[in-house]
Amino acid sequence: MVYVDYWSSKARCTMKRKWISSLLVGIIFLGSVVGPVAAALCPGDFLPWMSAATAEPETGLSTGRDHVVRNGDTLWALSREYHVDLDALLLMNNLDENDLLTVGRTLKIPISTCTVKKGDTLSSLASRYQVSVEALAMANQGKDPYQLEVGDVLIIPGFEADSIAASSTPSRGYSIDLAAFGWPVSGAVTSAYGWRKSGFHHGVDIAQETGAPIKAAADGIVIFSGAKPIYGKTVIISHNDGRETLYAHAQSILVHKNQRVRKGQIIALVGTTGRTTGPHVHFEVKLNGKTVNPLSQLR
Ligand SMILES: [Zn+2]
Repeated sequence: MVYVDYWSSKARCTMKRKWISSLLVGIIFLGSVVGPVAAALCPGDFLPWMSAATAEPETGLSTGRDHVVRNGDTLWALSREYHVDLDALLLMNNLDENDLLTVGRTLKIPISTCTVKKGDTLSSLASRYQVSVEALAMANQGKDPYQLEVGDVLIIPGFEADSIAASSTPSRGYSIDLAAFGWPVSGAVTSAYGWRKSGFHHGVDIAQETGAPIKAAADGIVIFSGAKPIYGKTVIISHNDGRETLYAHAQSILVHKNQRVRKGQIIALVGTTGRTTGPHVHFEVKLNGKTVNPLSQLR
């Protein structure tokens, strides 16, 4: 019981402090923590950003990790072992989920790690790296949270894109001025944005029957129209306020690259292309290059 109370009370404190600390910490670590993780977990278009990532010696944080494939390794097993999104792992290494791994090949693992320093606690690290205590503990199950030792290397499982996106742009006021998007399709949200068992989900899944129209969430210009691994037939629209929206798994696409579209215009039809378990739209919103929770942007 004490164990449960410890976690829940620490988690609440972390949440309260987050908004204050994230203003300071968020900006400082934005490049080193969020950039590489966000870039790693995003579609291939954004991967070149990853090469700009550098280690942050001040905090002992390093980003990304190499893994040399051992006998018996599978992509699924590696995604579980490192607590990373399988999609991100595939995209980062330009792999298809059916590809076989050859022993000795070096894979890039889209995670960050940090080295424990004197005075660090699980909760102070969670606060510093903008992750929940629970997520940090989950990603480091071999470690006793009460017995962190200087020099221990912890996995930083991810980040909370919403709070960082909001806190890192205080002068721009993006989080306040955002005009709401329209829903691309009407339907039930069958999978939310954020962590789920298989990893971080960068959008929301909205169920709708095959062939139903997918509508542009706002005015903009089509910057991608075509097929992507996992995403299937996909449209990406750039909006003039710096946001981008992505619509995946379409049955067919009705717009072409560089085409201007209006809010509500039908851009594609719902389908099951890419990796899906049924017809739906996987809808992502990016703000300044990072995904945010689409439900916070929809009206
Ligand atoms: Zn999805």
